[in-house]
Amino acid sequence: LTTPSPGKPRVDTLIDGERLISRLRTLARIGARADGGVNRQALTPEDAAARKLVVGWAREAGLAAETDAIGNLYLRHTPAGADNAEPIVSGSHLDSQPAGGWLDGAYGVIAALEAVQSLKENGTALSRPVEAVAWTNEEGSRFIPGVMGSSFYLDRLSIGEIADKQDPDGVRFGEALGELLASTPDLPVREQPRPIAGLVEAHIEQGPILEAERLTIGVVEGVQGMRWMEITVRGRTDHAGTTPLRQRRDAMLAATAMVQALADALHDPDDIIRFTVGRFIARPGAPNTVADEVTFTIDLRHPDEDVLERSTEKIRRTVAEKAGACDADIELQESLKPVRFDQRIVETVASAASDLGLPARRMVSGAGHDAAVLAQRYPCGMVFVPCHKGISHHPSEDADEADLIAGAAVLAETLRRLASD
Ligand SMILES: [Zn+2]
Repeated sequence: LTTPSPGKPRVDTLIDGERLISRLRTLARIGARADGGVNRQALTPEDAAARKLVVGWAREAGLAAETDAIGNLYLRHTPAGADNAEPIVSGSHLDSQPAGGWLDGAYGVIAALEAVQSLKENGTALSRPVEAVAWTNEEGSRFIPGVMGSSFYLDRLSIGEIADKQDPDGVRFGEALGELLASTPDLPVREQPRPIAGLVEAHIEQGPILEAERLTIGVVEGVQGMRWMEITVRGRTDHAGTTPLRQRRDAMLAATAMVQALADALHDPDDIIRFTVGRFIARPGAPNTVADEVTFTIDLRHPDEDVLERSTEKIRRTVAEKAGACDADIELQESLKPVRFDQRIVETVASAASDLGLPARRMVSGAGHDAAVLAQRYPCGMVFVPCHKGISHHPSEDADEADLIAGAAVLAETLRRLASD
């Protein structure tokens, strides 16, 4: 054991770890599944109950609670004299996947509440308000698209344009939102999104790297970019017994050759490129007929836009080369640019972790998050903690309590430093 040096922050004085874990466990009972997972999809009665619970905790702590037209929650501590300063914000989401876990989103909201509450209780000197936020419908599993609350905050989305979207049971978004807002009639409704001085989101990694390297903190430098493509290869149907191979235009053979050649062409010795063919469909799909049409998907991800562009070029070339007697075309279905988080916030997270004596590394998020949306306008960053086997969006999602506590302490120290500039 080492004695902490005076003046250095310590996990156990920054936050109340027991309170953090007990709140996470209590929250996980709302929408609990029999298999240990959580089903608390956006704008359901469970989502509304989770919001009420969190607002109750915030009010007990003396924080000012507000909502807005899309149901985002804002839980604010305003230190004396800081009323007019732009706040430092932290948060994530309370909604889950239908077969989700207890930490995705929930951890970022409860850790933010813990950090803000502790800064207030400890009487920490701050020059800016600190605010915990829960963004509405991050997952997008019930109502498409996801990251609705954070997109709304940036004016990238209006309620009018999504009000008529329906969930799989035919419930309108506008109706579900009305019910959610009606469940907290005493919450003041913010008319306008307010400018943010800086935002930090805590989240489980949802990947295996921190656990494998036995690290406690991921200092997130950005979110990788993504491109989705669909490749269609067209040949000709022929009788499998009568047509000589030389005369065929076999879409199956061309497509499988493409997939293997693409894997070779995109091979990355550093193992950073993510290349996935997740769907492969052959038509007409009869065992004794040569396939005349094959479609397959490509999910391509990398933190660097130049690499994505060069890789896309390689894909075009390889597909053309391997088409042989068939025709092939590529449709780009979705393209998300990589996000680089604010350098000052990234450095603040890194130094907070280091001063707390926690083993950390810099990394890029493989998944999208509200912070990646908000980074389009505001300085943002993220703190990752390890999760078991990298599993997420699954009932078995889990993490060590000590890591969850350490991550919340890093968050609290980061918010303190950013809010005392
Ligand atoms: Zn999440």
